[in-house]
Amino acid sequence: MNTGTGAGIGGGLGGADGERAARRDQAVRAAVEQGLLGPDAPIVGLLDVAGIRESAAALRAAFAAVTAPGTPVLHAFAVKATPLVAVLRLLHEEGIGAEVASPGELALARAAGVPPERTVLDSPAKTPGELREALSLGVAVNTDNPQELERLDGLMAEGASASPLGIRVNPQVGGGSIEALSTATATSKFGVALRDEGAREWVVRAYLDRPWLTRLHAHTGSQGIPLTLMAEGVSEAYALAEEINERAGRRQVDTLDIGGGLPVNFASDATAPTYGAYARVLREAVPGLFDGRYGLVTEFGRSLLAKHGTVVARVEYAKSAGGRPVAVTHAGVQVATRTVYAPGAWPLRIAAYDGKGLPKEGADVVQDVAGPACFAGDLLAVGRAMPLLEQGDYAAALDTGAYYFAHHYAYNSLARPGVFGYEADGCGGVAFATVREAQSVAEIVAEAGGAHADALTSRGH
Ligand SMILES: *Cc1c(COP(=O)(O)O)cnc(C)c1O
Repeated sequence: MNTGTGAGIGGGLGGADGERAARRDQAVRAAVEQGLLGPDAPIVGLLDVAGIRESAAALRAAFAAVTAPGTPVLHAFAVKATPLVAVLRLLHEEGIGAEVASPGELALARAAGVPPERTVLDSPAKTPGELREALSLGVAVNTDNPQELERLDGLMAEGASASPLGIRVNPQVGGGSIEALSTATATSKFGVALRDEGAREWVVRAYLDRPWLTRLHAHTGSQGIPLTLMAEGVSEAYALAEEINERAGRRQVDTLDIGGGLPVNFASDATAPTYGAYARVLREAVPGLFDGRYGLVTEFGRSLLAKHGTVVARVEYAKSAGGRPVAVTHAGVQVATRTVYAPGAWPLRIAAYDGKGLPKEGADVVQDVAGPACFAGDLLAVGRAMPLLEQGDYAAALDTGAYYFAHHYAYNSLARPGVFGYEADGCGGVAFATVREAQSVAEIVAEAGGAHADALTSRGH
């Protein structure tokens, strides 16, 4: 795998992908020049604002190209992928709503100004209070299971709600290459398992008995799921909607929520598969879904943000162990938790920059790139061939805009890094905007219960 920089791997890339890689190189250099990165600021998360806008536009265009004119389509960004308020507002401005799965995520979407009618609540463990709040706001809710539907029955009996309501089904079409992200296996914890005995009939009856159920939801996977399998899941949900509507004798289910899950290419700068490709696979597999009879909701997360984030960390020390060079950096398990704990499933490209933030040249050297945490497995990359990282250089973990540096893991009380958006400043340079401040040591103490320091010792003394 060539893990070089934009300059090094631009060849053969499509225009937009090559430009994104070049913007990333410029941003790393500008971050060093402008002091966002340095000896006393050894780690930072960077977001490519233009890239995020491009992906949002590509998503809208892909579905506009396959749906009948006038079809209502809500693209709801899965907030869990990048739970940063400014990102949610940027996406909102780009016509993308929010899919939320906790009170915190709902609050983030609201803080970003995403209106309730562009918000979808999906969590598998909603409390009565959360359901009540969603219904009073008019946020769409996908019910996960029969017990939750009973709760909805109670709330609906109390008064009408503007919330579009549906049931999440698990079409049980099978898993992909990453078990932990396969949501449509036979025993997945999500939704109503459609192929279990009696389940399909239960779902149909649930709709016939409740005229207010108008949506149907299936999210059949994430990274590691082939497009054809995703399309199969959508196809199963569509067939069920058709069956419900036929038995109801009217178009009761008016909207299908097809979830997210488009995989991301972590092996190069190429965007693949594209939203366009997925939309075409879907139209091929489920033409009836696009003929204008159904509204659509999508819930993409990783594919909207992953390629627009970079975590850059200073090489504090460069050493050698057992003959292998090891670069000890400030990015490890706290910002790349999945990669550190499951390196086989989540390899990341690492780009090498020198102390000025310029792409490092030089022959490939097999080396380890380590993080700052105190356990041996805290490694971003093992045995990776790339230009030798030396003290004062920077290591950049690429494609980390979703499920990485925004998902801090507080191991060793390592501080959450600051996150900055970058854009061309209009004069040939790069302008940064603060998306999230770096966490201070005082905040770490406060979050660790600093205000309760004598809670366990004051009594009896
Ligand atoms: C996580 C999740 C998504 C987003 O998945 P991605 O793989 O990030 O696109 C969408 N819908 C639901 C219900 C989810 O749990």
